[in-house]
Amino acid sequence: LFLPIGILMAALVIGLMLFRMRNRLSPLDELIAAIKRHQLVVHYQPIIELASGRCIGAEALLRWQQPDGELLRPGLFIPLAEESDLIGDITGQVIDMVVRDLQSLLVKDHSFYVAINVSADDVKTGRGLDTIQRALADTGIGNHQILLEATERGFVDATSARLTLRRAKELGHMVAIDDFGTGYSSLSSLQRLPLDAVKIDRIFINTIGTNAPTSSVVSHIITMAKTLQLSIFAEGVETQSQADYLRQLKVEYGQGWLFSMAIPVGEFISYYLKNRELYPLESASPRDEN
Ligand code: C2E
Ligand code: MG
Ligand code: MG
Ligand code: MG
Repeated sequence: LFLPIGILMAALVIGLMLFRMRNRLSPLDELIAAIKRHQLVVHYQPIIELASGRCIGAEALLRWQQPDGELLRPGLFIPLAEESDLIGDITGQVIDMVVRDLQSLLVKDHSFYVAINVSADDVKTGRGLDTIQRALADTGIGNHQILLEATERGFVDATSARLTLRRAKELGHMVAIDDFGTGYSSLSSLQRLPLDAVKIDRIFINTIGTNAPTSSVVSHIITMAKTLQLSIFAEGVETQSQADYLRQLKVEYGQGWLFSMAIPVGEFISYYLKNRELYPLESASPRDEN
């Protein structure tokens, strides 16, 4: 008697699995569907001028809104998009969303800017730049208000990278190298790229004030960026002592949970309106010394 019941149970389980598989899209198909259904949303992380504590801009960070309301972080789906050629569509959606979300703020306040992450593929082909120009046309938003962040993976093909970055600069965009310090760019290769800024990866910011063997790396990175006359953004600033240290070394800009996480657009606009005015964090602002 047990044998037939066992077989019946096994058949039932297998049947159920097949049913579920048939009704489950592959992760890639789900991502394609999500793009079509506009289930990608952008959150904004404030960028702070460290000397004054003012909010001067934002980084656009993508989230995938699941039907159950859960938000997926880009680390879980951007790699998939990059492997499959979808990344161009995603860059297009991000810039469209930035325009839709923040157009009135960007047009009213020409000193405000938004940083957008472009993928290695966007840099290699230069197509991301065309997408961005199309999205910005007739919006009243200046190209100088869109900062492009590219990781060093985009610079592997140095010739095409240089072409894309040079065109970006000619169009008036600012260009920053993201996750700086985690790649393998040499000083001399950076020197030849038309860059405005580096964003120091948060793994280095994390070590500030600790005894970690890498904790001295951050001051070397800062010195190196200054030698190349690049502006510096510190990522992942979580504590006041990290912010103080960076301010002492005259790092200009910071982002991180000390100030704010990436937040939905409505919250960001209130944050910006409250924090765009200058209010010195210390009695003698380091800005006065320059
Ligand atoms: P990223 O450009 O280096 O962005 C910084 C990441 O650090 C973000 O993670 C941000 O939420 C997180 N972060 C910010 N402050 C803190 C902090 O104080 N502590 C900690 N622990 N984390 C902090 P997120 O949003 O998960 O994004 C991960 C990466 O995904 C980004 O790294 C970027 O490379 C990529 N990405 C995000 N949006 C886009 C996009 O629209 N297009 C492309 N191509 N890539 C994107
Ligand atoms: Mg970034
Ligand atoms: Mg980064
Ligand atoms: Mg990163």
